[in-house]
Amino acid sequence: MTLPNRAPLLEVLPRDLSAYRKGNTGIDYVHRFDSGRPGPHVLINALTHGNEICGMVAATHLLDSGVRPRIGTLTISFAHVEAYEAFRADDPFANRQLVHNLNRIWSDEWLDGPQDSPELRRARALRPLVAVADHILDIHSTSQDVAPFWVYPGFARNSQAALAMGVQGRVTTHLVMPSGLGSGTPLIEHGRHGAGDSHAGVALVVECGQHFLRASADVARATALDFLAHFGLIDSAEPAQPAAAQSRFALLQTCMVHTPAFQFVRPLRGFETFDEGELIATDGDAGEIRAPCDRCTVLMPARVPVVGREAVYLTRPIAD
Ligand SMILES: [Zn+2]
Repeated sequence: MTLPNRAPLLEVLPRDLSAYRKGNTGIDYVHRFDSGRPGPHVLINALTHGNEICGMVAATHLLDSGVRPRIGTLTISFAHVEAYEAFRADDPFANRQLVHNLNRIWSDEWLDGPQDSPELRRARALRPLVAVADHILDIHSTSQDVAPFWVYPGFARNSQAALAMGVQGRVTTHLVMPSGLGSGTPLIEHGRHGAGDSHAGVALVVECGQHFLRASADVARATALDFLAHFGLIDSAEPAQPAAAQSRFALLQTCMVHTPAFQFVRPLRGFETFDEGELIATDGDAGEIRAPCDRCTVLMPARVPVVGREAVYLTRPIAD
């Protein structure tokens, strides 16, 4: 059984982005501001998935409010405006991607390969700016209404930055990927950001909450500012908060949907826990998904299972 396909609450809707098309980098929907002073090059990226509107709110906020870096360089990008513009209020989950998942194709194999799609064309266009960025924040949201969380490859540089920002209490849950995502190469694992390269900077996804909620847009906007402040590009916008408790989960396994018969044993939203061996889902002839450990915690269960896409991420809590 999966959650009924209820019409979601649409508190935030897409707005026309044509005014942001012509940036100053030669790449559509990419804007760059160089302080003229030494410092890191930080990339704030929105709309890797077309219906994840909160990133658009954050990116337009940065541009509309005239944020400028006091050190280093700031690049702001709208990754997949073509998918974003395909939004339909009567089917607001459909424009996550047009052909390929833009957040799974950041390997040389895909980028240099023979296939073509809107996502591959856009990834190839964005590749130089992703490759040159020192620190990357890729802003996403979730289909289910769950608390915001970080997602990042399990390098110390990423953990340190996410934990430092999490202390402020806005995003205090972490999905750490010790062995990568497991179902393709996301933007934050492109090139040196996916390797244990001592020269690589920080690359984080922030999942801000449910796609269409005002609260998710607020998290996206605040987290983008936190990220810029963390690296010294702007002054911290928020007064210091009492340190918040944080919880971290290690990704154990990314489970795919193999058959149309896939179903979870009960409706899942995310962050439910299962004991070792407990049944989580069945997948027709392809078998079952069972918890590989006690306190196995599921993240991002598919709202509607689609063959060939991710079904659910199995994690275990990291004891600090
Ligand atoms: Zn996403």
